[in-house]
Amino acid sequence: MNDNPRPTFEFRPVPPAKHDRRRILVLGGAAALLAGGVAKVLQLVVPNLTEPPPPLAASASASTSTSTAPLVEAASAPISPTQVLPTPLPTLAPSPTAAPAAVVLAPAATAQPPLAPTAAPTETVAAATEVDAQPTAATLLRTTAIAKELDWFEIGTSVEGRSIAAIRIGTGPVHLAIMGAIHGGWEKNTMTLVQQAYDYFNDNSDLIQPQLSVYFVPATNPDGIAVGTNSDAAWNAHGVDLNRNFDSYNWSRDTFGLVGGRYGPTGTKKNGGGPRPFSEPETQAVKRFIEGKSIDAVLSYHSGIVSVTAKDGGGGVGEPLAEEVATITGYGYIAKWTLYKLTGQFMDWLDDKNVKGVEIELPDQHTLDWAKNLKSMKAVMQTLAEG
Ligand SMILES: [Zn+2]
Repeated sequence: MNDNPRPTFEFRPVPPAKHDRRRILVLGGAAALLAGGVAKVLQLVVPNLTEPPPPLAASASASTSTSTAPLVEAASAPISPTQVLPTPLPTLAPSPTAAPAAVVLAPAATAQPPLAPTAAPTETVAAATEVDAQPTAATLLRTTAIAKELDWFEIGTSVEGRSIAAIRIGTGPVHLAIMGAIHGGWEKNTMTLVQQAYDYFNDNSDLIQPQLSVYFVPATNPDGIAVGTNSDAAWNAHGVDLNRNFDSYNWSRDTFGLVGGRYGPTGTKKNGGGPRPFSEPETQAVKRFIEGKSIDAVLSYHSGIVSVTAKDGGGGVGEPLAEEVATITGYGYIAKWTLYKLTGQFMDWLDDKNVKGVEIELPDQHTLDWAKNLKSMKAVMQTLAEG
């Protein structure tokens, strides 16, 4: 049974909340001074950007042209994503197949805009930072990128073109990612859990230590989410088990799982690992995200088994965090998986990269077990903040 309140949301973009507005207020002042420079730099660094980012420049200009009072008023008023983010840049225009993402990721009732248009500019600007060689320009662009990342952005797209969206709270040097639904709709409650965790920490951003940046990625496998909630919804649109498609030492083309679970009565899946490691756009997006954002630790949520794991076999860099989560949740820590053969797993790839990966299996495919999991998230943040 589900003893947790069912959230009313589906996965959708939301306007910046309290902490966002505070930062936008602060950054707004800086942006006001720098807006002209940013626009100029963007034109210099991003050759195909033919226009400066009008919303940011416009809002910044409005701020400078008026006194402090209107700035405060503007900060407390609802800020739509389009006010924070400029129009999509041509390099990351959503593909025609991206349209279904709006259906899946946004609630029909509120008719929110699809994620892709708001997400694209963030990544483009962030990418521009990497190619920029001028310190002054880099500083300007980093400031801009930080402001923009306070809204949902896209780490990549699925086989069918749906956005894999992320959002960040905090600007600290230690980077934690909280990720759900790599097994799609089959483990849809993990998407809800991560979304609810984002909403909670967004409303209580003072609970996130200044040492931390926390990224939330509710739906790692959005095509699986779109399929429904049965075992067919566990794979991506190529029929690949994304949690068997990573380039770990033990990757294999055919894959294995719990008999009677998503792997059915045989417990095996032909080509479940994909034709090769990182063959899938979703795992490629995760790879770029983990590497590009210099993620230090990952909490990856699954459901249906009740366990906490890290590097299979034990002794990995994520093991102490995994044991901490296991103690708080009461889910057992399992050092060596014996139920079936594991291959190409996200956690093992993370360990190879010296990233502390912890995989948490919720007790079933409905409950969020909210109190325990929230408590363990807070504990992990505290541990990471203490270094
Ligand atoms: Zn799973």
